[in-house]
Amino acid sequence: DHIRPRGVLSRMKPYTPGKPIWEVQRELGIDKVTKLASNENPIGPSPLAIQAIQSYLTDIHRYPDADTIDLCSAIASKLEVKPDQVLVTNGADELITLLSETFLEEGDEVIVPSPTFSEYEFGANLMGVSVVQVPLCEDYRYEVTDLLAAVTEKTKLLYICSPNNPTGTYMKKQDLHELMDKLPSHVLVIFDGAYSHFVTADDYSDGLELVRQGYPIIVTQTFSKVYGLAGIRVGYGIASASILHHIRQVKEPFNVNALAQIGAAAAIQDDAHLEATREINTLGRERLYESLQELGFKFTRSMSNFVLVELGPDAKSIYDQLMQKGVILRYAGAWNLPDHVRISIGTPDDHQALISALREVLK
Ligand code: PMP
Repeated sequence: DHIRPRGVLSRMKPYTPGKPIWEVQRELGIDKVTKLASNENPIGPSPLAIQAIQSYLTDIHRYPDADTIDLCSAIASKLEVKPDQVLVTNGADELITLLSETFLEEGDEVIVPSPTFSEYEFGANLMGVSVVQVPLCEDYRYEVTDLLAAVTEKTKLLYICSPNNPTGTYMKKQDLHELMDKLPSHVLVIFDGAYSHFVTADDYSDGLELVRQGYPIIVTQTFSKVYGLAGIRVGYGIASASILHHIRQVKEPFNVNALAQIGAAAAIQDDAHLEATREINTLGRERLYESLQELGFKFTRSMSNFVLVELGPDAKSIYDQLMQKGVILRYAGAWNLPDHVRISIGTPDDHQALISALREVLK
């Protein structure tokens, strides 16, 4: 009782990830569990990644490459940036924490859209910095004027999540460019493109051209979603070498383990697997819309690999009952959307399991 943590910790909300499959299997004593809660790739990783990891296993007594040189060059050539414009981290989550540790100090402000991914607020809270929430507009659209109006002299970081988690909506290219042109130069924009690869809209920007043009922006992406490697934890940031230099001062030397580096470098070469994943997602998203419409539920059209669905005032109870039937969704109460759930796009089999369980619950 005499050992006290830092005062800011009392204000930090716990993060509840999607319930793991094994936990539900154990609790219910059943084998077949369908998880549509964490926006994972339903067809798994590229076989090239599995092979690369397997063949590296005999070398795991060696420390990994602290500078992740091979993976940085692989990412750089894919995204048409220079290798020193790439920083690899232990999931994009680590990068968000590193950005907070590198750039935030007492008195600063961080702008985040609302609702959005909770880690941005976590990072700010961790550093004892206040968060300014800018609500998304009708249909969860980004409004540039609202974001600009929130900026003060104290603003240090401004987060754009596009497509946004949990809404699946995105910021239009024209709006992103307008925002960057009008922002004062002391604000670093973090463009979270964890779900960039799933977008099928022509007026979308993944933010990378703004990095190439030298704007103060860092684009973050991850191997957890389209590449299907959530379990090995690899994310990365793309920004100017000078922005990344500051973050490199803070990061642990061996933050990305050797198997993760090898697996990710192989995965990024597999264009066919990426294309297959995108196709399954686009098709699955349409099929899921149709089923939801048949059941009479409202949802937000998504450019991502998940859909925000309004189940109504019974949403929590429906979510709980689905869990009892072995279907794991993400309840949206933590985003102040108590009538909603977020459903990840899965395989046709996953959707069938979901819809039949949902029909039983609604009977
Ligand atoms: N950004 C967003 C918007 C996300 O939804 C997630 C995963 N939930 C992440 C970043 C973090 O991804 P990871 O740490 O698995 O790379």
